[in-house]
Amino acid sequence: LTRASVAISVAAGLTLTGACGGGGESGDDSLTVGVLLPGGGASRFGQFDRPLIEQKLKQLCPDCPAATVAATSEPAVQRQQLDAMITRGVDVLILTVVDAKGLRSTVEAAHRAGIPVVAYDRLAQGPISGYVTFDGATVGRLQGEALLKAMGAKADGGQIVMMNGATIDPNAGWFKRGALSVLKGKVKIGKSYDTVGWRPENAYVNMTGAIAALGAGNIDGVLAANDSLASAVISAFNATEVRPLPPITGQDADLAAARRIVSGDQYMTVYKPFKPAADAAVEMAVALGRGEAVESIATGTVDSDTTKDIPAVLLPSISVTVGNIKDTLVKDGMYTINQICTPK
Ligand code: BGC
Repeated sequence: LTRASVAISVAAGLTLTGACGGGGESGDDSLTVGVLLPGGGASRFGQFDRPLIEQKLKQLCPDCPAATVAATSEPAVQRQQLDAMITRGVDVLILTVVDAKGLRSTVEAAHRAGIPVVAYDRLAQGPISGYVTFDGATVGRLQGEALLKAMGAKADGGQIVMMNGATIDPNAGWFKRGALSVLKGKVKIGKSYDTVGWRPENAYVNMTGAIAALGAGNIDGVLAANDSLASAVISAFNATEVRPLPPITGQDADLAAARRIVSGDQYMTVYKPFKPAADAAVEMAVALGRGEAVESIATGTVDSDTTKDIPAVLLPSISVTVGNIKDTLVKDGMYTINQICTPK
C-alpha cells in the first residue's frame, strides 16, 4: 500500500497526493507534492497561483485530489509548514518563500531528507532543484519606464516616491534595482521605503509620511512595487486635495488595479501571466518527484546566493496601461470588460 491513495488535509499547507506514475528506486509509484505559498487568500498567490497549480497537478496526475492550503505571510509559520511537510515525507515541494534567508536552514533540511524543492516566483536560498519566475529586474524596469512616460515633462528632474516591497523577499530587491536602473539621474527620489511584509497598511503609513514631509502637490509620481501597495498609496493621496493624482505604478494585474487603471487612479500594472508559471513549476515538481531531470523544462539557469546553475524557467511580463488593457488582460481571459468596468 502506498500513501498515494489517500488525500490528507494538512492545515500547514497544500498537499496533493496521488498515484502519479514513475516512482523512486523503492518502486513506490506514489507522488506527494507539497505546495507552500505566501500571503493570504486575497493575494495573487491565493487567488491565481494556487488554483492554477492545483489544476495543472490534476491534469498531470488525475488521481491527486487537492487538499488544503494555508498561505501565510509569516516567516515563522512558513517554517513550521515546511517542517511539517518534511516530517510528513512529501516527495517534492513547490515553495514561494516568505523569508529567503530565514528559511534557508529549513530548505537545507528538506534537501537532507531527499526532498527536492522547486522555488516558485521567489528564489529561496539553500539547495534548490528548479526555479520558475518572471524576471524581476525587467518588472522593475517596466514600472520605471512607464512612470517616466506618464510624468511627461516632469520626467526630467521631477520628484517621485518609491514604495518598494519587503526586503525579506528577494524579488523586491530586483524590482527596485530594475526601476532604479531607469529612474536614476532622471528624477529626484524624495523618499524611498521598503514595505514591511508587503503590507498595504505599512505602505499607507509610509505614504502619509511622505506626503506630510514633501507636500502632496510636490510629488510627481509614485513607483509602487505592486497593486496592493498602489492601492494604499492612492488612499493616502485621496485624503489630500491633490487632483488628479500623480501617476502611480503597480504589479500583478489585480482586478481592483485594472478598475483603477480604467478610472485613471492608477497609471499602470505589470501583468505576469501566472498560468505558464504554474504549469512549469508543476511540470518540474512532477519530474523531480519521479526522479527525472528538469533541464529539458528549463529555459536557462540562475545562481542564488547559495546555489549555482539552478535550472530555471524565466517568463516575460507585460506593461499594462489603459491603452492596451483590452489586448492583454481581457484578451488573455484574466477579466471580462464587464468585470473591469463594473465599479465596486
Ligand atoms: C511577487 C509579486 C507580489 C509580491 C507580494 C513578489 O514576490 O513577485 O507578484 O506582488 O511578491 O506578494
